[in-house]
Amino acid sequence: MIPLVKVGLPSKDKLMPRLEQVIYSGIIAEGEEVYSFEKEFSEKFGYESCYAMSSGTACLHASLTLSGVLEGSEVITTSMTAEPTNLSILYVGGTPVFADVDGAGNICPESVREKITHKTKAIIAVHYAGYPAQLGKLRQIADEFGVSLIEDCAHALGAKYKDSPIGSYGDFSIFSFQAIKHMTTVDGGMLITKKDMDEEIKRFRWFGMLKGGDRTKMNITTLGYKYNMTNVAAVIGRVQLEEIEGKINRHIENGKYFDTKLKNIEGVEVINLPDYVLPSYWLYTLKVENSDVLIDKLSNIGIQASKLHKLNHHHEIFKSKDENLPKLKEFYRKLIHIPCGWWVDDILRAKIVECIKHN
Ligand SMILES: *Cc1c(COP(=O)(O)O)cnc(C)c1O
Repeated sequence: MIPLVKVGLPSKDKLMPRLEQVIYSGIIAEGEEVYSFEKEFSEKFGYESCYAMSSGTACLHASLTLSGVLEGSEVITTSMTAEPTNLSILYVGGTPVFADVDGAGNICPESVREKITHKTKAIIAVHYAGYPAQLGKLRQIADEFGVSLIEDCAHALGAKYKDSPIGSYGDFSIFSFQAIKHMTTVDGGMLITKKDMDEEIKRFRWFGMLKGGDRTKMNITTLGYKYNMTNVAAVIGRVQLEEIEGKINRHIENGKYFDTKLKNIEGVEVINLPDYVLPSYWLYTLKVENSDVLIDKLSNIGIQASKLHKLNHHHEIFKSKDENLPKLKEFYRKLIHIPCGWWVDDILRAKIVECIKHN
């Protein structure tokens, strides 16, 4: 079966010597490897300040806390995402308010505007499957109402919005390096921010203290967590960075190939985005009337296709089961993801198109 998602590690000969060196270096937790990884990540993708953490979820937790989301705050968010996006709102005592989606399955700015109240403290935009959300409008709404914009870029490493790297519009933006994302450090995350919050972020990720000083003289005044990245994870990230463009480019090439080949097929809708947006196609998204039938058909020729995620608001914990989100309902009914990553070669992608054509 050709999988929808896949772990992509560098080859043994590239990774193992560097990994072995770090593991037996005597400094295996947060240290120089982590700081070099942050610097190299920011240089490669074009971000000002990057903070490595133990997971993308930890970065979301930090973003919400540093945005001032507290018990009683509302956060406008999307149901069409992985669960951590919305669970993190519960971590800080906030209430997720689910907005409807646009044609790409991303949070719809008009719906966000309708749901803003005096309790709203933040908006989370997920670039679902790697297709950028409507950042221009979302930024404008956030500014107008004085709330924080958080970009969940876990699916979107390498994507662009108006020539800026994805994550450039948010007050906070997060990436995940969990096993099956574009890039992996086994588990890990990166927080991007334009705000001057260096000390707050460093305290947040390490027990409320700043690493490096005399611990007997430290004074904890704000709650911090055990969210630091380790040198072991960071070295995997550093070695990955050396070859990540090739991998991301293959996702993009395959995505553009599917865009071209599938767009005129009767009964198949592809995601239409403006020219100034470059998706990084973590998954390829298409919409068909009878998604279950096509999922089975692809499975019969050895291609894994699926919806991948459950609509988050259907989880009991969010108490939003009966939310009226008509566009999301339609999007989800028609949704299919097909494999689009670096493991999909020319022959395979042609085979996928043929199968969908004779749908
Ligand atoms: C993977 C993912 C996360 C969480 O990342 P972890 O590194 O697994 O904590 C958050 N949001 C989305 C949309 C994700 O897919």
